[in-house]
Amino acid sequence: MNEVKNPKKPLIYYYGIALLVLILFNFLAMPYIMQERVEEVDYGTFMTMTEKKDVGEVELQDNQILFSNKSGDKVYKTGILNDPGLVDRLHASGAKFTSEIVTEMSPALSILLTWALPMLIFIGIGQYMARKMARKAGGQNSMMFGMGKSNAKVYVKSSAGIKFSDVAGEDEAKENLTEIVEYLHDPGKYKEIGASMPKGILLVGPPGTGKTMLAKAVAGEADVPFFSISGSEFVEMFVGMGASKVRDLFKQAKEKAPCIVFIDEIDAIGKKRDGQLGGNDEREQTLNQLLTEMDGFEGNNGVIILAATNRPESLDPALLRPGRFDRRVPVELPDLKGRQEILQVHAKKIRVDRNVDFLKIARMASGASGAELANIVNEAALRAVRDGRKRASQEDLEESIEVVIAGYQKKNAILTDQEKRVVAYHEIGHALVAAKQTNSVPVQKITIVPRTSGALGYTMQIEEGNHYLMSKEEIENKIATFTGGRAAEEVVFGSITTGASNDIEQATKLARAMITKYGMSGEFDMVAMETTTNQYLGGDSTLTCSAQTQALIDKKVVELVKKQHEKAGQILVENREKLDELSRYLYEKETITGEEFMKILNS
Ligand code: ADP
Ligand code: ZN
Repeated sequence: MNEVKNPKKPLIYYYGIALLVLILFNFLAMPYIMQERVEEVDYGTFMTMTEKKDVGEVELQDNQILFSNKSGDKVYKTGILNDPGLVDRLHASGAKFTSEIVTEMSPALSILLTWALPMLIFIGIGQYMARKMARKAGGQNSMMFGMGKSNAKVYVKSSAGIKFSDVAGEDEAKENLTEIVEYLHDPGKYKEIGASMPKGILLVGPPGTGKTMLAKAVAGEADVPFFSISGSEFVEMFVGMGASKVRDLFKQAKEKAPCIVFIDEIDAIGKKRDGQLGGNDEREQTLNQLLTEMDGFEGNNGVIILAATNRPESLDPALLRPGRFDRRVPVELPDLKGRQEILQVHAKKIRVDRNVDFLKIARMASGASGAELANIVNEAALRAVRDGRKRASQEDLEESIEVVIAGYQKKNAILTDQEKRVVAYHEIGHALVAAKQTNSVPVQKITIVPRTSGALGYTMQIEEGNHYLMSKEEIENKIATFTGGRAAEEVVFGSITTGASNDIEQATKLARAMITKYGMSGEFDMVAMETTTNQYLGGDSTLTCSAQTQALIDKKVVELVKKQHEKAGQILVENREKLDELSRYLYEKETITGEEFMKILNS
């Protein structure tokens, strides 16, 4: 047991437990075992044995009589009866009176039971604890169980590795990481002047924006080995395994330095330690081990750790302090130019028509991440194959945007005639309200073919370049547009459907943000009423105001949405003819493009 390293609890603790078990055993179990030897008999047997002078020793207790046979190898007990002549008769039978009848068994057996057995239990517990602690400490002895080795994959350096040129867009991130590549190429240049590289770099951004790719590209550009492991892989069933994996990973990495260690989803282990009872012991130990390893290696030993996360605010501050992950590289969703480049990079891997307009597709796929764009290109190729064509066309790509974002067309979902009419009016309602407010093309395209995602219609929004600021009027118009679908149902059918649930959600979100976040309520001036968490994952927010204010905010939100809803209804009533005409067109053709829409509107 002397190979046990840094046990969490002192050894004495476990021996204490063992000792307690031993004492309890002696107190509770031993008398029971002793009693086993005593056979209970009825009073008649006792009397008969007395008459036959078969009683050896006898002890008269308050509530029972203990006695042995003549040879003394058996002990009996019986209850007490009112028997006045008993003492005389026993005396006459030659029984010996004693105050302590020997109920014990043979000395050898006794020693075995009282000492040897507890000793065995004692040692057993000790062994078990020691093993458990060793596993906890993740020491060498855990290896004999075949556990505790990290699964860090080693990517052998190769010229076929990913380079920065494979990562389209993300120019700022690439620029930031170029320094790391230079350092890995020529650490001496940095050592000379005494500069030390950051040990850890955090790549922060929404899912599918190319964080993993960037990390690989750094390794590829610098031509160094690339170790990669996901944060969730550290969190194992057994406490201590994660820590052991971290230690192992860094041991491997140091041997291969200079190199890149990439930890994906670092939030899986790096979450804030809240110190609450019943917290995740394993995760904290793993995180502590990671911190220890990062502190452990001296500034310039050539191991650079890149980590990716999409919830930077949930990370433990200890991870972010200088000397650990002190540099942060944002990897944002691509802008129009970025999307176009990503599409082009991926289009190189498939056969496409020469006249494909990538800019147009990039514009249509506004808000798509790099991973989604890669998926769009692949879907286009699949679609071309399905149709027996040799090259993917513009149409394939356009249809694929809808497939990736809204799901496949649901071939067998048949809308009733009335439903189809309602959907057509609903979608045109949105578009018409949008068009009338801004006097511009409201959408790229509207289709009313049901999608596997559950959407009954699909509207492809237009995006003209990048847009960083939104005025109050623009947001209000947007809310009105969201309510336009429901407003059309009201104006035309006088009844409403469940089709507007998503619109309602979005309109509410915008209205609430206007009041709580953008200071556009008038009443609250420039006071923030909520804070945003999870910026990269949809952005949940928490209210930071009193209950009264909350009630007031709710009231304001309702007022705001209501006003825009009324405005939308009014626009539709004023343009009822166009609403009918456009809806009829969409109902018949199932698809309407932005140009067709404007042509009908302006005719
Ligand atoms: P993340 O790690 O940010 O979730 P990945 O790096 O795993 O995203 O990207 C997933 C896939 O998306 C990549 O394999 C690549 O095909 C594609 N991709 C994402 N961003 C880009 C980009 N900027 N350039 C080219 N392809 C990209
Ligand atoms: Zn709608």
